[in-house]
Amino acid sequence: RKDIGRITTGSKALDELIGGGIETQAITEVFGEYGSGKSQLAHELVVTVQLPEDRGGLNGEAVFIDTENTFRPERVEQIANAFELNIEEVMERIYIARAFNSSHQILMAEKVNELIQEGKDIRLVIVDSLTSHFRAEYVGRESLATRQQKLNQHLHTLQNIANTYNAAIFVTNQVQARPDAFFGSPTKAIGGHVLGHAATYRIWLKKGLAGKRIARLVDSPHLPEGECVFKITNDGIVD
Ligand code: ADP
Repeated sequence: RKDIGRITTGSKALDELIGGGIETQAITEVFGEYGSGKSQLAHELVVTVQLPEDRGGLNGEAVFIDTENTFRPERVEQIANAFELNIEEVMERIYIARAFNSSHQILMAEKVNELIQEGKDIRLVIVDSLTSHFRAEYVGRESLATRQQKLNQHLHTLQNIANTYNAAIFVTNQVQARPDAFFGSPTKAIGGHVLGHAATYRIWLKKGLAGKRIARLVDSPHLPEGECVFKITNDGIVD
């Protein structure tokens, strides 16, 4: 088994909260309301995964499965500039896949295997958003079981990629800002973990004062719960 790798979020405080950065061989779910910073973190990570290890990266490439047209190359450019990276080179190492519906999204995740077998050094797979298509397509109580089953299949594909290629998986999940948000997770089933032994980190993002963001680690295989504060700036995610 290969050593677990870590990708910096750009914020030291957030990295520390989650044990040193986003982990490979694991799925990290970030959830929170609209505008809480989920996509911003995704944009940061597709850049930082490319950094050398001594700068918090894995010298790797990234796949961005985009379900809601949230990918912004100009945002990647700002972040790449902040790290003094060449923007053309950075963009060449990000594979963008637009997913038009949930079955397409599932297929796109499966295709990551082919990309890697073609020789691409994918160390990070983003799914932004993991849940939106599933929620839109499987509406009502009677389709809840099917929705959960399809999501589980998708998460299983992603976990396999994580394990097989020592890659990090980062998924976003929009939830309403209400107390039962904790139960809105796709990676948890009623009564326990859907993913069984899969290492899954869950980070709850909230808006704070003066443009700050609060991240709360709510579920981790071996880390305590905790919170930290970070900022979103033109340079990306910072302390
Ligand atoms: P979501 O959680 O819905 O994916 P986003 O990650 O898209 O939310 O976050 C959008 C928010 O990020 C904006 O509302 C803004 O507050 C902040 N943001 C985006 N770009 C910048 C920037 N260059 N400087 C400061 N804040 C920014």
